[in-house]
Amino acid sequence: MPDRYAVIGHPVAHSRSPWIHAQFARATGEDIEYGAIDVPPAEFAHAVERFRSQSGKGLNVTLPFKLEAFRLCAETSARAAAAQAVNTLVLDRAHLYGDNTDGAGLVRDLTVNLGRPLAGERVLLLGAGGAAQGVLAPLAEAGAAGIVIANRTVPRAEALARRVPGAEACGFDALAGRSFRLVINATSAGLQGELPPLPPGLFGAGALAYDMVYGRDTEFLAMARAAGAATADGLGMLVEQAAESFLVWRGVRPETRAVLAALRAP
Ligand code: NAP
Repeated sequence: MPDRYAVIGHPVAHSRSPWIHAQFARATGEDIEYGAIDVPPAEFAHAVERFRSQSGKGLNVTLPFKLEAFRLCAETSARAAAAQAVNTLVLDRAHLYGDNTDGAGLVRDLTVNLGRPLAGERVLLLGAGGAAQGVLAPLAEAGAAGIVIANRTVPRAEALARRVPGAEACGFDALAGRSFRLVINATSAGLQGELPPLPPGLFGAGALAYDMVYGRDTEFLAMARAAGAATADGLGMLVEQAAESFLVWRGVRPETRAVLAALRAP
């Protein structure tokens, strides 16, 4: 019997994670099966327990459950504790254990796949939800300097900025007159075909605009392209966070290059 894993969220029908983990399993020879579990918001904790009682070994947690997953865990990794959000549950320990691989995935996509070193880079992070929470400390640890967090709900950005020394918080209007070489969109605006109200002139010379949303050309990426910035969607982050979760569960880090290339192939 293969070991059982799954992604859990609402909705998850669109998820590429089962396909990605199937490629990782084939490439590494690990005997796993990986499915998708869609649960209504009120039933998350119950669904985790049910999967665990059916000998499930691990879960990837996606929207909207990352914060609830953190609260459910009896023990977490340091990076999940810093994020106060969990995207990787380990079920075959005595206590429910949570980790967060989103930040490692983003940093690896930026630095390895996209060749953008973070040391000394001034970064604008748009959004203050679960995804922004997950990547803030890893960005700072990778050397990003003077991170600015801009969010629609400013107090949320302020609460997040207090977690990392030197981070600054503001609303979108306060970005007028400022420019950055790396702008990361961690809002979910692109999922609804929307764009945060960003002032012109945000993208400095040689800037990269990175949207965590993947699989669609968002308004944010279109705006950045029109302003002359290089652009990247979140597909690389998705594959890299999956590889990091695979490492947490199986003790082996799969190669990601071929999987990412296959996902990007027309
Ligand atoms: P979340 O916890 O629901 O947070 C959503 C964030 O987006 C909040 O900061 C919210 O602002 C902001 N927002 C939503 N609609 C907006 C709009 N129309 N204009 C401006 N701001 C808006 O979601 P999340 O977990 O952080 O996920 C955010 C996005 O990242 C999702 O699209 C998700 O798919 C993506 N993601 C991708 C990966 C990957 O591997 N590529 C990994 C994780 C997440 P308020 O605080 O004001 O509500």
